[in-house]
Amino acid sequence: MSRRALMASAMAPNERPSWPVFGPLEESSVLEALRSGRWSRSSGGRKVLDFEEKYAALTGAKYCLATMNGTSALIAALNSIDVGPGDAVLLPPYTFVATLNVLLMQHALPIFVDSDIETFQMDATKLDTAYTQECIAVMPVHLGGAAVDLDAVMNFARRRNLKLVEDACQAHLGEWKGRKVGSLGDCGCFSFQASKNLNCGEGGALITNDEELANRAYAFHTNGRPKEVGSGLAYSRNGANLRMTEFQAVILLAQMTRLEAQSRVREENARYLAGMLAKIPGVQPARLHEGCTRNAWHLFMFRYLEDAGVPRAQFLKALGGKGVSASSGYTPLNKEPFLLKMMEGRHYTRIYGQKRMKQWLEQNECPVNERLCREAVWLPQTVMLGSRSEMERIAEAVAQARKG
Ligand SMILES: *Cc1c(COP(=O)(O)O)cnc(C)c1O
Repeated sequence: MSRRALMASAMAPNERPSWPVFGPLEESSVLEALRSGRWSRSSGGRKVLDFEEKYAALTGAKYCLATMNGTSALIAALNSIDVGPGDAVLLPPYTFVATLNVLLMQHALPIFVDSDIETFQMDATKLDTAYTQECIAVMPVHLGGAAVDLDAVMNFARRRNLKLVEDACQAHLGEWKGRKVGSLGDCGCFSFQASKNLNCGEGGALITNDEELANRAYAFHTNGRPKEVGSGLAYSRNGANLRMTEFQAVILLAQMTRLEAQSRVREENARYLAGMLAKIPGVQPARLHEGCTRNAWHLFMFRYLEDAGVPRAQFLKALGGKGVSASSGYTPLNKEPFLLKMMEGRHYTRIYGQKRMKQWLEQNECPVNERLCREAVWLPQTVMLGSRSEMERIAEAVAQARKG
């Protein structure tokens, strides 16, 4: 699709991009799926399968399993590498709560690895210090669409003999040294929830190059029934029903025809905006790791330093007044009251013992992340679909809003 055609369909009358972007292709695809009467892969639909093949090809992974959402892709991943009570998993504190919730569902022990202030990603140099004997996996997040230092994480996982699950829920088309993120670890998980760069309202996918893992994940996602037996009632394991519907798949197939062109627009705009913002005192766009050869730009993230001007809340309010909707991003996940309550609660105390949980609470400190949470400012991916002059307007608004 040409840039002009793309922008025309993405622009609302007020010159701001609207989201989601759709047209006759999505309309006819949904109608066709409806009229086929085959609304699920379990009733003979072939569109989920078609999506899985195309998404595997797009990411360069051997296998893809479509799921009902990103959270269920992560649940299928953890169940495929057998994470359960007594196991610890390393994760970043700067992420969406789902990354943590899926570990809590397995009653695994979450061990937070502090953030890197410049890249906003998990600080891979702190993995060894955070590691304990209980660890069986590491679950980094490619936050905002930019890659974590995957060389360092892969090296660590290999050395410690840990499974590597990439939470790539924000990183469609993101790359590490020319390879698609999500395809480098044991498996990678994506979300197609309404706010994500590839969107079907709710949706998810797990990709992997490991045939056995793919088979375990497939069976898990359809209540333990392996692929080979078709519709028969034979079980190879436990499971749940995390199946994607045909309606989700046809929307994804249509949206995938727009993804590359949209990503290019985001990249071009983000680079232009980052250059302008970097010149404003006290404003620091998130740095990319050198290996991050392509950023999905799900979020445009920058730090608003404490001495940049008026306090951040006032800055954000002033930005809003100028028609720029920015957010303050995540709050420290490792200090969430619901989490601390669970860590002191009955199940965790029974599984890990009172002494271990007391130690967990004492060691649960991510001071860099707390600073990041105080300084972060985000612009959503939809803003990056705007025009070049819109980027100039945003940079100007940021420079002005510092004064309140
Ligand atoms: C969106 C997201 C998820 C969860 O995906 P859903 O499709 O909303 O279930 C998990 N992790 C991260 C980092 C996300 O951004």
